[in-house]
Amino acid sequence: MTLDLSHFVCQCCGNCCRPHGLVRITDAEITKIAAFLGMPEAEFIDRYTALCPDRRGLTLIEQESGACCFLTTENRCRIQICKPDQCKGFPDRWTDPLLESQCMGLKKLREEEARKN
Ligand code: SF4
Ligand code: SF4
Repeated sequence: MTLDLSHFVCQCCGNCCRPHGLVRITDAEITKIAAFLGMPEAEFIDRYTALCPDRRGLTLIEQESGACCFLTTENRCRIQICKPDQCKGFPDRWTDPLLESQCMGLKKLREEEARKN
């Protein structure tokens, strides 16, 4: 990506939370999210996580559509205040072609860059 992401503004479209994929969570994140949801960690793990295919840690489960279990119908993250580091990292620290093509914030930034040039 050659865009200057310092001007990136999330458009809250939810498109990075919608496609099928892994949202890996650490033990520390499990502790925080379970506390935020007001439930014991064991219950959180049972209800909202699954073992990653490589069997190295847990991922958040998906809705039937493939969207993350915490994406609301209003495109909001139900655990925004304590969402996993992986979620915080997109698109600054990591990206992939599918998410990059669907992110409305990146689309807006590209349009603004194009207007300047
Ligand atoms: S935890 Fe929140 S930000 Fe992360 S994928 Fe799920 S809905 Fe999106
Ligand atoms: S896809 Fe981009 S604009 Fe949409 S919610 Fe995710 S980071 Fe924000």
